[in-house]
Amino acid sequence: MSCQRIDLDFSSEPVDLHCPVCGALIFLAGEKQETCRHLLFWAESESGEWELTDKTLQLLFEARAQHLYKGAIDKGFYGSLDDFYATMKSSKAAEISATVSTAKSTILFCVSTSDIGCGGMHNGTFYALFDYLSGREQCRLFSSIES
Ligand SMILES: [Zn+2]
Repeated sequence: MSCQRIDLDFSSEPVDLHCPVCGALIFLAGEKQETCRHLLFWAESESGEWELTDKTLQLLFEARAQHLYKGAIDKGFYGSLDDFYATMKSSKAAEISATVSTAKSTILFCVSTSDIGCGGMHNGTFYALFDYLSGREQCRLFSSIES
């Protein structure tokens, strides 16, 4: 089971997204800005960039990507694993990240925006996967009992 996913389609000018836990400015007008300890993954569809910022999630992601790569080879993909990563769309990377993030404390935001103008030109979607409990090594309740 994957993490919770929230899709926000603003259909307006690019918006800002702050970390829901600490308030760090992750995206400003749709452009990546800061990183915080709660952010596990981010991506932008317009530039195609994506990044895993958490080591544990990266290991889970790589295992899932290896599995998908083998499936792609069976279906006729002839590139290397690096080619597979290089051609992976940000939406697919976000989907994989959400799939392997099974902690109940994780949540994926998918924010779509567009320009104001004739035809409502699409500006893309940005993604941010957060963990509300990231950085806590142990439960405070148990650490207070032990000491
Ligand atoms: Zn944060």
